[in-house]
Amino acid sequence: MDAAIDFRSDTVTRPSLGMRKAMADAPVGDDVYGDDPTVNRLESKAAELLGQEAGLFVTSGTQGNLLAILTHCQRGEEYIAGTKAHAYLEEGGGGAVLASVQPQPIENRADGTLDLESVRAAIKPDDFHLAITRLLCLENTFFGTPLPMEYLAEAKILATEHKLQFHLDGARVFNAAVRCGITPRTIGGMFDSVSACLSKGLGAPIGSVLTGSNEFIQRARRWRKMLGGGTRQVGILAAAGLYALEHNIERLSQDHEHAMLLADGLAKVEELEIQKTAQRTNMVFVSMSESKLQDLAEFMHGRGILVTADENPVRLVTHLDIDQTGIQNTVEAFKDYFRKAA
Ligand SMILES: *Cc1c(COP(=O)(O)O)cnc(C)c1O
Repeated sequence: MDAAIDFRSDTVTRPSLGMRKAMADAPVGDDVYGDDPTVNRLESKAAELLGQEAGLFVTSGTQGNLLAILTHCQRGEEYIAGTKAHAYLEEGGGGAVLASVQPQPIENRADGTLDLESVRAAIKPDDFHLAITRLLCLENTFFGTPLPMEYLAEAKILATEHKLQFHLDGARVFNAAVRCGITPRTIGGMFDSVSACLSKGLGAPIGSVLTGSNEFIQRARRWRKMLGGGTRQVGILAAAGLYALEHNIERLSQDHEHAMLLADGLAKVEELEIQKTAQRTNMVFVSMSESKLQDLAEFMHGRGILVTADENPVRLVTHLDIDQTGIQNTVEAFKDYFRKAA
């Protein structure tokens, strides 16, 4: 369905003409030899943007987080992450399975933060019965909400006090920065490592970047090779990521405005409840009567609008392939559906 208005995720974006041209024109080389100039440019650009020394182009956000765990931790150590954090819940248990690193989950509060007293209490004392706590992972944005900067500062102090490494799953960190009106490096520079997705709202077809110190990235590169992630003339893909970093960060504010418009429009539909958030980026969570979900999704599909019906609240994600007309049409379609159903 080519002309669909697809709210399922910001991963559904297709490379634009400009991006495809950049890919076609990219100078390439063998990246395992360090010879690919486009990959090298992408890696330094990402590092600079995120306030880190070096970067590593990786296949996915999952690979970026796994490499962070592998690189920061040794076998028999543990990392702390939220119970709803992607790096704990949605990466197949890779930290445990492939790194032999135990996760120590801490319940996320509604705003995505982890109560720092609970984190402190979970840090293990030096006792040979216990795993060695090595790493604290946060996620920003968390379900579309940026973490407060004061919170990041407090978490960093705690990590430093307890000699924990501090990793950010910044899959959508550029959304957070744009929404908060700060540079990405203001957020990224607080961490020992940051992974960020190129393949979500930034519109690249594939890839994430893992960033950190020179020494950290050197070791992560070794793990990436072991995972089969050493690739060759991959500048053709890095060019898309580079294009995304050069052209598609500032425009994320449009996605955020669209999400706001969508939330405001849907708030007028009596049968819907819109989840409130301190600061909305590109996601709107909408609750409705469970019995209507499937039927609504089918109705929407008939109007060329794609929504996922397997979760309530339904997550609607705005991105660069949805324009303002698409938002207006969607609000109208929701209104029509409930008018018809009434
Ligand atoms: C999407 C996402 C990832 C993983 O990215 P993939 O490229 O899909 O592996 C990690 N963390 C968060 C918060 C994400 O949203």
